[in-house]
Amino acid sequence: MSNNDPQGLYKALGVQPSATAEEIKSAYRKLAKETHPDASQTASSEKFYKISAAYEILNDPLRRAEYDSSAFQASAHEAKTRVIDPICCSRCGQVAAQPRYVVFFRVYSFIVMTTRRPVQGIFCASCAKKEGLKSSVITLFAGWWGAPWGPIYSIGSILNNGFGGKHERSADEGMVWYNALAFLSRGNLQLSYALAMQSRKALDKEIARHAAELVSQLEKAGADPRQGKLRNPWVTSMLYGTGHLLMAFALPGALALGIFANTQGSGASASYGGSRLYSSPPSKQYQSSVQNAIPKPNVPTCTDVPYNGQLLGPNRLSSTAGHSLEIRNGSSGNAIIKVRAELSGAVVAAFFVRSNQTGQITGIPDGRYTVQYAFGDALDVSCRRFVHLNSAGQFPGAETLQTEQTATQIITQVLSYTLYAVPAGNVTPQIISAQDFERQ
Ligand SMILES: [Zn+2]
Repeated sequence: MSNNDPQGLYKALGVQPSATAEEIKSAYRKLAKETHPDASQTASSEKFYKISAAYEILNDPLRRAEYDSSAFQASAHEAKTRVIDPICCSRCGQVAAQPRYVVFFRVYSFIVMTTRRPVQGIFCASCAKKEGLKSSVITLFAGWWGAPWGPIYSIGSILNNGFGGKHERSADEGMVWYNALAFLSRGNLQLSYALAMQSRKALDKEIARHAAELVSQLEKAGADPRQGKLRNPWVTSMLYGTGHLLMAFALPGALALGIFANTQGSGASASYGGSRLYSSPPSKQYQSSVQNAIPKPNVPTCTDVPYNGQLLGPNRLSSTAGHSLEIRNGSSGNAIIKVRAELSGAVVAAFFVRSNQTGQITGIPDGRYTVQYAFGDALDVSCRRFVHLNSAGQFPGAETLQTEQTATQIITQVLSYTLYAVPAGNVTPQIISAQDFERQ
C-alpha cells in the first residue's frame, strides 16, 4: 500500500489517489458492472463488496478527505529511527510545510440539472488559492443556469471557495505535526521546532502533549525560539475575498439574491439538496393486474381524497427532525410515493400527491433510501392504495441522507423530484411491477 492509500481503497478501484471525482465514479461503474454477482459466472461477490465499500468512502468528499488525511501518522520514536518524507502539495508536488486538506466545489447546471463536483486534495497555500479561484470562475459561468438549485449551490460554493475551501482543523493540525516529525527525522531542527510550536495548540491532546515535549527537547538542542514562528501562508488578500464576494453576489443580480435570502433565512437550520427531473415511464398498463383490478361498477372507492403530502398508513418518520422529500407531480394522474430503506426494502413512509400539484414530507431519518412512485386514478376504500395502478417506477440508485452538524447549525437535506407526464427527463427511471410497489 502506498503512503497515501493506507487501506488500498484507490487501488481497489484501480485509480490513483489524485483521481478526480468523475474518474472515481466511472472506474466504479465499470468495475461494478464486471463484478456484480448477477453479471457473470466469473464475477465474485467478495470483489463487488470490496469495490462498493471503497466507492462509498471515496465518493463522499468529506469521508474521502478524512481517509486521505488519515494516511499521515507518525510517532516521535519513528522520527528518530527512520527518515520520514514531509507532505507534498498534490498539485505542484513541492514540499508544503503547512499543508491543508481542502475541498473546493465547482457547480455545473443545465436547465433543471445541477451538480456540485468536489475538487479535493492536499494543497500548499498558493495552489489552494489558485484552485479556489478557478473553481469559482467555473461556477460563475457554468453554475447559475439551473432552477432552483443552480443559484443556491453557486453562491454557497463560491463563498466556500473564497474563504479557503472546506477543511477540517483537526486534519490540518495532524499534517502539521506529521511534518514537524518529518523535518526532525531529516535534521531540519529549526523548521521542526517552528511546526512543533504550532502543534502545541492542536485540538488533539496527544499531539499537543507530544509537541510540547518536542519543543522543549529542541530548545535544549539549540533551536532558536526567536525563529519559532512561521508566517501563515493561508492568509488571503482583501482583493481575493472581495473578488469572490463579487462573483457570489454582484453579478448574478437581484433574482439570485432573492432565492438565497429565502433559503438562508431560516435560523438555526438550513437545507440543501439536489433537484432532479425524471420522466415518468410510458403509461404502460400492467396486464396481469388489469385482469383482477379493473374497477367493477360497484367497487367502493375512497370518498375523502387525501391532501398533498398526506401520509398513507404507518410510517417511521421522526416528528422532531430529519430530511425532507418533495415531489412535484407534473403528470395528469394522482401519485403515491413510497420511501423504502435501501437494504430491507421496508416502507419508511408512503404519501399522496395529487395530479399537477406538489407534496412534501419531512422527518426522514439518516439512512439510504430508494424512492418509488405509482400513478393511478381512484383510491380504494382504505384510501391507501389505488384501485388500479396505471404505472409504477423507481428512481435509479439509492439516496444517502446524512445530517451534518456544524458548530452553529444542524443541516438536513431536501430531496426534490419532478415527475413529468411525457418521457422528457434526463434520467429514465426503472419501471417496476405493481407487486414490487405494493410489497410491504
Ligand atoms: Zn502547491
